[in-house]
Amino acid sequence: MGSQGEPPVYRRLLLKLSGEALAPATGSGLDADRLNAVAAEVAEVAGMGVGLGLVVGGGNYFRGARAVGLPMDRIVADHIGMLATAMNALALGQALESAGVAVRVQSAVDLTPIAEPYVRARALAHLDKGRVVIFACGTGNPLFTTDSAASLRAVEIGAQLMLKATKVDGVYSDDPLCTPDAVRYESLSYDDVLTRSLAVMDAAAVALCRDHRLPIRVFDVMEAGNLRRIVSGANVGTLVWGGTGE
Ligand code: UDP
Repeated sequence: MGSQGEPPVYRRLLLKLSGEALAPATGSGLDADRLNAVAAEVAEVAGMGVGLGLVVGGGNYFRGARAVGLPMDRIVADHIGMLATAMNALALGQALESAGVAVRVQSAVDLTPIAEPYVRARALAHLDKGRVVIFACGTGNPLFTTDSAASLRAVEIGAQLMLKATKVDGVYSDDPLCTPDAVRYESLSYDDVLTRSLAVMDAAAVALCRDHRLPIRVFDVMEAGNLRRIVSGANVGTLVWGGTGE
């Protein structure tokens, strides 16, 4: 596994993957090719000696906010959503192991026979030993998203960059799939994202990154090699960082 000569410019990163990144084109369930592709990308970067924490969503199975019409309380719907993230975390963990990566799954909700509980000190120890850590069950609390969990864990593990994996190559002024002349931004400030409600991560997640001066890079996870390019310092996708005039 090589970096093609470019040394990594980051020591520790947090990668946020939506459930959809692991799903087939229908957006629902798991897809072997997607799991293997994501695992290969992560394996390559782990092989460069970069410490990687992963937060995986659950939208390919269930989202609490979309449970409208189902006979359930929103809080319980979010519990189901968090369990969906655990299924993805376990599947991704297996794909990573198959790709030769040492990995641990830690859960914010107690799933003890299935995954380690989230213990920050233990997560840091895993990272120090070169293991990838997958953080399951989001923040462990309803009414949050895995974007917020990603910001939280990123700050907790001392990540130098938050990588937000999407299916487009950065942040656009409009949805590029619906508006062909939408403009792609090279960089944006946190406040640009928040005041213009640009589709990066949810507002709570962006605000947490802003408050802790954690840069966010939004990139296309479907394009092979992007993770390695970013880790090698390439300007892939859109960087969210700084305030007005910075
Ligand atoms: N969720 C939650 N608390 C969290 C993280 C997630 O309750 O801290 C629930 C929520 O219902 C959410 C679902 O888990 O809709 C799946 O997460 P998310 O929607 O962030 O997944 P993604 O869109 O990234 O696949």
